[in-house]
Amino acid sequence: MSLTKNTLYSVAIIALSMSFIGSANAQRGGGGGGGGTRAITQIEGDLYRFQNNQHFSIFLVTSDGVIMGDPINRGAAEWLKEEIATRFGVPVKYVVYSHHHADHASGGAVFADTATLIGHENMLAQIAPPADPDAALPPRLAALDANENGTVELDEAQGQLANRFRGLDANRDGSLSGFELAAARGGDVLRPDETYTDSMTLELGGQTVELHYFGKSHSDNMTIMYFPAEKTVFTVDFITVNRLPFRDFAEGYLPDLIEAIRQTEALDFDVVAPGHGVLGNRQDVVAHRQYIEALVDQVSQGIADGKSVADLQGEISFDQYSSWAQYDQWLPLNIAGAYRILSE
Ligand SMILES: [Zn+2]
Repeated sequence: MSLTKNTLYSVAIIALSMSFIGSANAQRGGGGGGGGTRAITQIEGDLYRFQNNQHFSIFLVTSDGVIMGDPINRGAAEWLKEEIATRFGVPVKYVVYSHHHADHASGGAVFADTATLIGHENMLAQIAPPADPDAALPPRLAALDANENGTVELDEAQGQLANRFRGLDANRDGSLSGFELAAARGGDVLRPDETYTDSMTLELGGQTVELHYFGKSHSDNMTIMYFPAEKTVFTVDFITVNRLPFRDFAEGYLPDLIEAIRQTEALDFDVVAPGHGVLGNRQDVVAHRQYIEALVDQVSQGIADGKSVADLQGEISFDQYSSWAQYDQWLPLNIAGAYRILSE
């Protein structure tokens, strides 16, 4: 099945509107808050993209229920569950975790009444116990609770707590509960019910979704969701479009990441849906891989030549990628991260 002209046109419109949102969010910086944008947009056929501020997930609607990607967080998941029930009238049957990072994988409990939660087997060792939904405010924050209602409202918050308020207020009720604060520390990721090793195929309502593990990349438990009929891959933090890899590769693996992107390229897709920023196409995936290859080449050479991180941050630049999002901010961090990982 190939994309029609109309579909390509609508993908282009989505990409345009997403890039507008992306640049608006980029100007606000990297926190969990931002513009308070929640949206559902069609990618192709029954496949939709779900936005929660700067994070994106994906879901496929079938006659027997929904197969979705990351729940993102409890507030986002509650909103999405309601929207899916209202718009499509079917329950969520599968939640697929892209990886264990709490900013994507939190809130799965919202779907546990109808869905099977699935993740790569390496995810199990990475996740902390979920936060207690009835957790009280920690004492230091309880002291801010002037009206003694058990939560902190914006006019009670101070300093960093006030700055981060919108991002921490996952259910957007205008107050921070003990649960929201505990969940934000990384503790609201429900364990997957089922895990897989190399690949797994989900079938529901006559439609198919493939899950693939292509080795260590952005984490050691990264799942690529592949929608063959819609020729779309959901890559989350692993491949982004016209945007540098996130900061210093944190828990990532180099050069393994390059091989994992090559394996993604071997799938028959036209659309790449990242977990942040704009939609893209096959060429964008190739470009992302080529950027990382160039970075790894230059940093490896620098290490071999006995240069320091600061030397390389002063020397390395990539004119052909300088228009990408976060180029100025994250290139020095990409260099430092690659240096750290490739020196190990
Ligand atoms: Zn991540």
